[in-house]
Amino acid sequence: MRKIVVAGNWKMNNDLSQTVDLISGIKNALAESTVNADVIVCPPFTSLEAAKTLIEGSDIKLGAQNMHFEESGAYTGEISASMLKSVGCEFVILGHSERRTIFMETNETINKKIKKALKEGLKPIFCIGETLEERESGVTNKIVDSQVKKGLEGISEAELAKIIIAYEPVWAIGTGKVASKEQAQEVHAFIRNLIKELYSGAAAEKIIIQYGGSVKPDNAVELLSQPDIDGALVGGACLKVDSFMGIIKSA
Ligand code: PEP
Repeated sequence: MRKIVVAGNWKMNNDLSQTVDLISGIKNALAESTVNADVIVCPPFTSLEAAKTLIEGSDIKLGAQNMHFEESGAYTGEISASMLKSVGCEFVILGHSERRTIFMETNETINKKIKKALKEGLKPIFCIGETLEERESGVTNKIVDSQVKKGLEGISEAELAKIIIAYEPVWAIGTGKVASKEQAQEVHAFIRNLIKELYSGAAAEKIIIQYGGSVKPDNAVELLSQPDIDGALVGGACLKVDSFMGIIKSA
């Protein structure tokens, strides 16, 4: 049985005082509930250290939203894996569609980032997903296949055990257009089967595959009850305690 994993991607939202409010709210709400999910929060870099202190004494885990694949040096504006480790991150989101489209990240760059994260002991939340145009032209599986194969190139089965895959159809991110449970399940099953082909049946059974794209409390139950959907990567709805908790409780 895979445990449900719900991660909140705060994106470029929340300054320090808003971070204190949001994390304290989630922490208090979790303390009053029985939840059946692992919970990860991914605030902006500037809030990571404060978030680490705030989550102490709770089961909330900490992740970052991006990192560079180089160790250190003349990369103005970038953050390294060891820097994220040093402020207490356990996870890092890599290959988010906003990074791919706005910041021109390629499958090759993402593969380098995944390798570096693993080397430094960070667990990647590896995002993949097709655009609307790709879905409408019937190439969803082909795109996802290529993103998985290129992103995981050179990654061993032991390393794969540290990776969460997040399937996020680009057309569903921040648009309010959620994939139907059938559409999401179909791609999740395809990804799990691909992991079986690339690694083993055991690796496929074990890997957590989250769905992301306009997940809200009112659609979380039907998505999370699909056999191959093991959690959610949540954007907009993770910025309010009630909606994030609503999704967590759906697990
Ligand atoms: C995301 O950014 O990963 C995401 C899924 O956003 P939203 O939930 O707002 O669609």
